[in-house]
Parts: sequence; C-alpha cells; structure tokens
Amino acid sequence: MGRQSLLETLLQLIFPDRCAACRTLGTLFCATCQARLEAYQPDGRTLPSSLSQVHVAYVFQSPLREVIHQLKYRKTRRIAQPLGQLLAENIAPRAREFDAVAAIPLHPRRLSERGFNQAEALAAVVAHIHKLPLITGPLTRTRDTAQQAAQANAHMRAANMRDAFAWRGASPPARILLVDDVYTTGATMGACADALRAAGTADVQGLALARTRPKP
Ligand SMILES: [Zn+2]
Repeated sequence: MGRQSLLETLLQLIFPDRCAACRTLGTLFCATCQARLEAYQPDGRTLPSSLSQVHVAYVFQSPLREVIHQLKYRKTRRIAQPLGQLLAENIAPRAREFDAVAAIPLHPRRLSERGFNQAEALAAVVAHIHKLPLITGPLTRTRDTAQQAAQANAHMRAANMRDAFAWRGASPPARILLVDDVYTTGATMGACADALRAAGTADVQGLALARTRPKP
C-alpha cells in the first residue's frame, strides 16, 4: 500500500462517505436515493435563441435538491463524480454531436468565495467520460450577477444577464455542450451561449442536471 492510499484509507476512517441525501454510510449518493430520481420530460417551454437544444436529466426535487445543495454550498466536491456520471449517461446517445464541453463560469469573486465551480466539476466528469476537451479559461463571467434570484420576472432576469459572459481567446470550437447544475429560466445559459455564438461557435446545446416542473 503506497503512502497516498494509506492516507486515503485513514481519511475514509475519519470522514466516511455518506449519502448526500439520506446520510447512509459508505457512498456519496446511495442506490436507493438514485432510484428515486425522476427523469425530466421535455416540455414546450421556449428556449433562449442562442441554444439549439437543452437536455435536462431530472426533475428538481428531493432527494436531488439536497444532493445539489451539498455540492454547491457545502463544498462536498466529490459528489460531482456520481452526479457527473448521471449527466454523462443522459447525453451519451448524442456525445458525438460535440467538439468540446464547457461549464457556466462563476465570476472570480464568487469562485474565491465558494472555492470551486460546481458546474465545472460536473462538466469535467462529462468531458472525461466522453473523451471530449473541457473548455475552462477563455469563457469568462465578466459581471457578478449574484442577485439573479431576486430578479422578479424572466424579462428582468434576461436583462440582468446581458453581456454577463465573454469569450477571450482564439476561435471557440464549432459545437459546444454547455453544462450547468440547475436550469431555471434559461437566462443564464442563454446569455452564456450568446457569448459563445458571438465568438463564432455554430451550435450550443445545454445540459443540466435538474429543472423544476413547469407550472400547470
Ligand atoms: Zn441516500
């Protein structure tokens, strides 16, 4: 046993893995909780014009809500692995439609507060599984739109996001899969896709772990 694996073994003894939703020992996201995930059914809601398609894996509800919360706010970064695998499975039939994977970037201020970008952690797993390059540097968030949730309606949210992202580098790949954890109104993903399209990307598709059901 090497030094690193001994350290890992010790860490496992001191901080054993627990399911992020039900706290069962020995796993980060247990099979029982994963079996409760509900596939998101495509609905007729309008997409931002800069996105040709948006793929959403699951309905945003318990237990996925708790698991995403753990990833995002409690900095349990390793949960990105099982969640990223679920995303990779979701997009597997279309993986050849993309030249690269990118994540919705965080503003540098938010990144330093949070320690890591949860969307990028998910995107990295998807990129690794499908052997696609992961774009990190050139796609940047130029405005801190932290108050997004407070914007009352879709129009205001879209206005708040305008020019929030920029592409800074050589020409981006032609076909990009843009990953986020939760898809809400599409204002954020749409604005990010706008920046990619403005830089020359021909096709941007979105991939998100979860979305709330449309209101009846
Ligand atoms: Zn569980």
